[in-house]
This record gives sequence, structure tokens and C-alpha cells, in this order.
Amino acid sequence: MNTSIRVELSNNKKTKPAVSELGFGKYYTDHMFIMDYDASIGWHDARVVPYQPITLDPAAKVFHYGQTVFEGLKAYKTADGKIRLFRPSKNFERLNRSNERLSIPHLDEELALEALKQLILADQDWIPTAEGTSLYIRPYIIATEAALGVSPSKQYKFMIIMSPVGSYYAEGIHPVKIFVESEYVRAVKGGVGNAKTAGNYAAGLKAQENAAAQGSSQVLWLDGVHRKFIEEVGSMNVFFNLNGTIVTPALNGSILDGITRDSIIGLIKHWNIPLEERALSIDELVEAHSNGTLIEAFGTGTAAVISPIGELMWLGRKLSINNGETGELSAKLYDTLTGIQTGKIEDPFGWMVILENEDVANRA
Ligand SMILES: *Cc1c(COP(=O)(O)O)cnc(C)c1O
Repeated sequence: MNTSIRVELSNNKKTKPAVSELGFGKYYTDHMFIMDYDASIGWHDARVVPYQPITLDPAAKVFHYGQTVFEGLKAYKTADGKIRLFRPSKNFERLNRSNERLSIPHLDEELALEALKQLILADQDWIPTAEGTSLYIRPYIIATEAALGVSPSKQYKFMIIMSPVGSYYAEGIHPVKIFVESEYVRAVKGGVGNAKTAGNYAAGLKAQENAAAQGSSQVLWLDGVHRKFIEEVGSMNVFFNLNGTIVTPALNGSILDGITRDSIIGLIKHWNIPLEERALSIDELVEAHSNGTLIEAFGTGTAAVISPIGELMWLGRKLSINNGETGELSAKLYDTLTGIQTGKIEDPFGWMVILENEDVANRA
């Protein structure tokens, strides 16, 4: 497999930013991965190359019809120098499910994982090691055929770029305020809500702006048909502790199937805490809030891992949750999952993929 990936190392390395400067998605490493697709030859020319601009025809289909998909995952480096990836195969499986929905050709998941490993090895010095930091990885595919007809592109580029990111919770894990959206919707069943594709995010920006103007940091989406059932938050899935039972919306076709969501469900089940994946209405939440059974709420996603929710704003009403403080379960889930990811806690699920020395040796 290695032989099919060409590696061209940069001889013009960038200066690495200070850890305090990292933020999220501001800096990019020295290399990137690119592979091309043409309908006549399939995926070809897999290569790790110096990070560089790409040239596209102005008629490239991605610009006009949004035929594109992406993924997001993280790599960590521990004190012993080991490089750890969290469930990377899940991301490439999901990328292929998104591909399927967007009529983008299937990608060899093993090759994609090998490409990622080769890229990380080329840029291993870029993985920050300070508490809470990581290397954020963005695989994505764009339609590149220069043709304005509305039909699946005959050409694509699969790329992976990487960005060292700072601690999401520089001042410690803290709850966010969430605006429950009543006017706009994110997705409907049968649409592309369960694919990680650009249009979903473009369509959500307006609501996000409105939410920000009212002092909320994110939008909680309701379903597009009844405008009643909880879907997800921004780029996070959402969980509620209702009197000791953890409830999260079932994957109904319009919600993104989060890998953090799946991992949190795994942990909650492992701890024998009651969990339900089901339809959950905003009315049920408001009712639970008023009778004191809405104990905790949190979002889950790769970037923040766990984001406790301290307040919901619904039709001008502010519903405070757990006095606006981080709940017990949110804190325990955050510590456990980040502990597994960084190797501080044993991984009973076999989630971590550790880049071994043989991977390094294969590079030579
Ligand atoms: C990526 C994403 C999530 C979270 O998925 P993870 O795999 O946990 O990072 C949730 N919702 C949306 C809309 C997303 O794009």
C-alpha cells in the first residue's frame, strides 16, 4: 500500500506558532495530501506534497453546485512520543457515506488511512503536546470538472490538510448558551443533513448570526417538518439528562451521525446509565425544565469533545440548566474521553490507533 503514495517533503519549513497562539484552524502544517479522480482512470496519483495553493478552473463544479464532502478528526502526541488517532476508520467510513449521498466516487478507506498516516509522519513535529491541544485533521473532496451542466462531476480532488489547535477550554471546561431556532431549519429527512457536506453549514450561518446577536454561541436546530423535535447543535450532537436517563435524538436521517456521539453512547452504556435514543420534543424539554427534571445538557463533537449547555433560549425565554454550571456527567464524560484520547486512561474499547515505529520506519 505504501508504494502507491508518493512523498515529496518540503525543504522550506514554516516557523511553528507558539502554543498560546494556536486557536482553531488558523495555522496549517508543512504538508498536505492530494489524490485525483478522473472517471476514465479512477482515483490516482496519491501524494504527500508541501502545503500549497491549488489551481481550479472557475467553472469547477464545486463552486457552482456544492458537490463536496468533508471530515474532521484529531491526532494527539503523548510524552513518550507516540502518535494517537481517535477512531480514524470511522471518519473514512462516514466520508464514503457522504460520498454516496453526494454522488461522489467511493474512496478506498484503507488507502485514505494510510495516506493520513504518511501525512502525519511527515508533519509529526507539528502535533502540539500541551494539555488540551491536538492536531486537527481535515480530509475533504471537491468536484473539479469544469462544466456548468448539473450532473455529477467526472473529476475530483481528495485532500487532507492539518492544523495544530489549541485547547478548546483554555480557561477550563465551561457551559455555553444555546439559541433554539424557531424560524430556520437545518435539514429534512431525505435531504443531506446526515452527510458532512458544505451546503449544510452555509445554510446555517444566518441562524448562527442571529443567535450570536442575542448572546448565544450556537443554534439548537428543530426538525424541519414539525418544527418541534430536537435535532442537533451547530456541529455537535446533543444529549440531555432527564431525571437520570440520558436522552439523545435518534439518528432519523436528518442528523449527522457523530463519532463523538457514538463514543459517548458507548461510555454511558459501559457505565450502565440508562440511555434512550428517541424523538425528543422542545415541549418535553420545557416541561422537564419547569418540573426540575432537566438536570444536564451537553453537545458532543470532535472539536470541543463535550460542550456543556448552561442555558437554552426558546421564544425569548431563558431556561437555565444546572445553574449555568458544568454538570457532573458532562465533566466525567469529558475527562474520560479526553483521557482515552491522550492515553492517560486505558482504552477499553480499542478506539485508539497508535502510529508505531514500523510506520515511521516504512517512511524511509
Ligand atoms: C461533524 C458534525 C458533528 C459531530 O461529529 P463528530 O464525528 O462527533 O465530530 C455533529 N453535527 C454536525 C452537523 C457535524 O458536522
